[in-house]
Amino acid sequence: MRDFRFLTPPTLPEALAMLADLGEDACVMAGGTALLLGMRQRMLSPDSVVSLHRLQALKGITVDPTQGLTIGALVRHADVARSPEVQRHYPMLADMAQRLANPQVRNRATIGGNLCYADPATDPPTCLIALDAEVTLVGPDGTRRLAMRDFAVDYYTTALEPGELLTTIHLPPPDTMRVGLYRRLLRTPAEHRPVASIALTLLRNGDLVSDARLVIGAATPAPQTMIRAQAFLEGRRLTPDTAAEAAALVAAEIAPLSDGRGDAAFRRQIAQVNTRRMLAELGGHDWRLE
Ligand SMILES: Cc1cc2nc3c(=O)[nH]c(=O)nc-3n(C[C@H](O)[C@H](O)[C@H](O)COP(=O)(O)OP(=O)(O)OC[C@H]3O[C@@H](n4cnc5c(N)ncnc54)[C@H](O)[C@@H]3O)c2cc1C
Repeated sequence: MRDFRFLTPPTLPEALAMLADLGEDACVMAGGTALLLGMRQRMLSPDSVVSLHRLQALKGITVDPTQGLTIGALVRHADVARSPEVQRHYPMLADMAQRLANPQVRNRATIGGNLCYADPATDPPTCLIALDAEVTLVGPDGTRRLAMRDFAVDYYTTALEPGELLTTIHLPPPDTMRVGLYRRLLRTPAEHRPVASIALTLLRNGDLVSDARLVIGAATPAPQTMIRAQAFLEGRRLTPDTAAEAAALVAAEIAPLSDGRGDAAFRRQIAQVNTRRMLAELGGHDWRLE
């Protein structure tokens, strides 16, 4: 790895000023689990690395009944998983964070670093989009807040502008009527990264579904919202037939990746089968008995 300057600004304004000064010669570092791999493989050779680890403004998890959940970008996956507030009010998120990667990565890598790197084979973006998350970005031109689905633009591409930092992730207040499931599918049990991930949340209006959010990630270059299946589910009862029809719409709509870990047909099939099972499960049907 090439020599570089390691800079540790103590405040957010100082970090932003450094990034503005250094421009393309600097890289931002959070947990370093993705950045340092890229530097060791010489895909990146910055003159300076600006570490965010002293920025208190990017740390901590808070829950407020009116504002919802706020997670600092520097919060590690293990902290999300262990947070009693997240476990209680956002169990789908806690469960996802508890199972991603491996203990070493969960205890080092941050949720903000994960979102900013935009590797397709990850978990939080899919889950957060289905939970209707937003992110706050701060940069030389001020602060902006955008929906997580608009932040995750494409394969390794986010809406971050040069010199901008992701500071916070926001989730709406918990809705006790909303139920959800997150599934991560691995190619082999020895692999850490998902080959496909599915996040599903919906409101129950008596027996009927409303406002379903169905997002597929890892199988696609960036998380893809299944618009046709969501529309189909509106106002329907969650029967095994409904689950099968919605899953067929997913298979028709998904635009999967092909890479060394799985081709598009394999990923389409995983998405279809598991969407059907998840919908059946939320409808109270045991797909294993079929
Ligand atoms: C062996 C292994 C297995 C893994 N398995 C999984 C898995 O199963 N599921 C999963 O979801 N992920 C997995 N990951 C990915 C892991 O979650 C990411 O590496 C990690 O989240 C990146 O976080 P970091 O804090 O280390 O980021 P860093 O490596 O520090 O940064 C990553 C990128 O984001 C930028 N960045 C970081 N923070 C900010 C910020 N606040 N604002 C602007 N830019 C920023 C950096 O400049 C860099 O480009 C795995 C990683 C490894 C090494």
